[in-house]
Amino acid sequence: MSEQTLPTTARAWHLDSRPEGRPTASNVSLREVDLPAPGPGQLLVANEYLSVDPYTRGRMSDKKSYVEPYEVGTPLDGSAVGRVLASNAEDFAPGDYVTHILGWRDYAVVDAPDAQKVDPNLAPLTAYLGVLGASGLTAYVGLERFAKIKEGDTVFVSGAAGAVGTQAGQIAKLKGAGRVIGSAGSDEKVKLLVEEYGYDAAFNYKNGPVAEQLAKAAPDGIDVYFDNVGGEHLEAAIGALKLHARIVLCGMISQYNNETVVGPRNLWNLVVTRSDILAFNFAEELDLQPEFIREVGGWLAEGKLHHRETVREGLDSTLDAFLGMLRGENVGKMIVKL
Ligand code: NDP
Repeated sequence: MSEQTLPTTARAWHLDSRPEGRPTASNVSLREVDLPAPGPGQLLVANEYLSVDPYTRGRMSDKKSYVEPYEVGTPLDGSAVGRVLASNAEDFAPGDYVTHILGWRDYAVVDAPDAQKVDPNLAPLTAYLGVLGASGLTAYVGLERFAKIKEGDTVFVSGAAGAVGTQAGQIAKLKGAGRVIGSAGSDEKVKLLVEEYGYDAAFNYKNGPVAEQLAKAAPDGIDVYFDNVGGEHLEAAIGALKLHARIVLCGMISQYNNETVVGPRNLWNLVVTRSDILAFNFAEELDLQPEFIREVGGWLAEGKLHHRETVREGLDSTLDAFLGMLRGENVGKMIVKL
């Protein structure tokens, strides 16, 4: 594209008001904004795929969290992958593909240090938002560094059919887990977990109390719980711990639309079983990225790791994709294709 035809406006989703409970269309709007020419050290990127993520719900509120809340009246952001249209930065050229964090819009002016080059010939572009991106790394870091997964472990993963969960179950198995159990919110997802993602057992948490279903799937208890959900799932997992078990708190999506987080009532069982409970954020563990790319990239290339995305079309569908993800309409990573 020549200089003359570079876009001078972009369409970007903005936060109009803070949601109370589940977000709705009245909380956000898609607006046209001016797009400045890239300055020194900046790139102009045409986004091709956007990621919609649970943490965006947290940033729409102004509660204390590990990332700053969005300001009302300003654009939302999130991970994206796109093509460089113009570059004023060394090491980047028009035609390069990059991941960056100015998603929820069609075009973005990105500071070069915030962009990572990706190779579309090594993996499909969407993989860099999912299996080879933050979701895959989150699953890897949680199991490897925090759960310290061991040969023969019985592992329970909640949110098992989602972006992180589909990878966590498979990575656990590839790292030697003896039995992997997943929970998800529909019978179709449960079937996929067992037939496609190699889970040894799975259940639909909407079909009955989690503790009862988990006890049937893991009659001898669990060594590791990878928590994506919190609430009733976390309490059930604490109740099922074997001796010296490990719980990793990755996320608590069952609580994100609640004003007050419901906590487990049986923490004493951590003492009884001398178990660990640890929380993490993948963004603080990026030193594991090279190892993750080597190991998980290798499994992908060998066909040992399955992944899929749920793809919505068009920038206008971003809100629907986000709300659909919160409602469980995705299997694997929820992505918007522009
Ligand atoms: P997913 O792809 O798993 O999508 C979210 C899923 O959550 C939905 O598909 C839905 O599946 C499930 N869900 C929604 N509401 C509930 C509920 N009330 N109870 C149980 N499940 C529910 O998202 P991600 O893989 O991106 O994220 C998974 C978790 O990991 C989130 O908690 C997220 O915040 C966390 N996370 C943490 C990171 C970290 O560094 N610690 C990094 C990335 C994500 P279903 O149909 O099964 O209900």
